[in-house]
Amino acid sequence: MQVFKFGGASVKDAESIKNVAHIMANYKKDELLVVVSAMGKTTDRLSEVAQHYVEQTGQAFTYLEEVKAWHQDILANLFDDATDPIFDEIANCFVEVEWVLEEEPQDAFDYLYDQIVSTGEMVSSKILAAYAKHSGMPVKWIDARDYVLTDNTYREAVVDWEKTEEKIRRDLPAILDDFVLVTQGFIGSTSENFTTTLGREGSDYSAAIFASCLNAEDITIWKDVPGVLNADPKWFDHTELISELSYTDAIELTYYGATVIHPKTIKPLQNKKIALNVRSFLNPAASGTFIRSTNQGLPIPSFIFKVNQVFVNIQPRDFSFIVEDNLSHIFNLFHSNRIKINMMHNSAISFCVAIDDTGKNIDTLLEELEKRYKVSVEKGLELITIRYFNQETIDRVLVNKQIIRELKDSYTCQLLVKKI
Ligand code: ASP
Ligand code: MG
Repeated sequence: MQVFKFGGASVKDAESIKNVAHIMANYKKDELLVVVSAMGKTTDRLSEVAQHYVEQTGQAFTYLEEVKAWHQDILANLFDDATDPIFDEIANCFVEVEWVLEEEPQDAFDYLYDQIVSTGEMVSSKILAAYAKHSGMPVKWIDARDYVLTDNTYREAVVDWEKTEEKIRRDLPAILDDFVLVTQGFIGSTSENFTTTLGREGSDYSAAIFASCLNAEDITIWKDVPGVLNADPKWFDHTELISELSYTDAIELTYYGATVIHPKTIKPLQNKKIALNVRSFLNPAASGTFIRSTNQGLPIPSFIFKVNQVFVNIQPRDFSFIVEDNLSHIFNLFHSNRIKINMMHNSAISFCVAIDDTGKNIDTLLEELEKRYKVSVEKGLELITIRYFNQETIDRVLVNKQIIRELKDSYTCQLLVKKI
């Protein structure tokens, strides 16, 4: 069997949804399960709804109304018959959000966020399933929350692989014999049936979960780029498509910040030796990138750029050494403030990191660190990672840049730099 994943950009309007249905019909070679993200920028819009609701600004309904109208417009462009049941189904999904918004917010933000934002995937999957069915495909819509079981870390839920695998294996193979399954990325459910989300851009990971549990032959992530490139075209003029990539290189690239695939996606696929094809929904005939078992290293150096980096240098106040005790305290503070470390380095008397400038939670982290350590901070930096670096590639990225920190191992070089 195969798994296809379609992201927000692939279902951003009526024409795009028609294209996705066309790809499902024409590029499926086998039994197929389709994982879809929320349409266009819906997740961002719904997180604004959640924010306005929790802050009680009085504007949550207005923001929701926009999301609703936008979806209704797309529906009207897909279905000529205004009495098609899909219109009511989508309206009902939004009514459920309205019920939440009518009450005073009692629960924690992260929990409320997941209950509201998950609606994006619910409506996109219902619309895609209804349209594909309408165009003649035998399709069944399933609720991912019945299958992807998680703990209750809202907004960053951890998957219970054992329970998830058991449910998926019990129900889905039989349905796949007769139907193409359409389900949601990004969402799961706790054992008490509360909706959770798996972290932003988590739909790739959902697709990998289904593929792994169903022992899929392969999985295809359909994107608006031709495949995995050796750099983001946003930062680089001449990018090259990488046609084949090992799991290890793919894990390393995504870990260091290549945004083409969600970092959690690759490992479950590597464990089961399931090939991952990254390919363009704009040019579906082109074969894109295959990530699979290969001894081949990356054919060319790859570059990953992260802007808005903060360099934090932490030293014990009494200039004692940085040892296990301080390190575990420091790591705990990063973890509890949900801050991911992009680069780290320690010496006898200092521990330094580069992290994304995410605003508020950094301020809280710094306050907590300063209680025990001497902390210095430098903002506005860039972190450049080069996989399979050489001196020429380093020189190329260092034009008009000053190095703040440099880390190298055999394959990867990380440069934290400042513009000069
Ligand atoms: N819709 C979610 C997001 O935008 C999940 C995804 O797109 O993968 O983060
Ligand atoms: Mg997305």
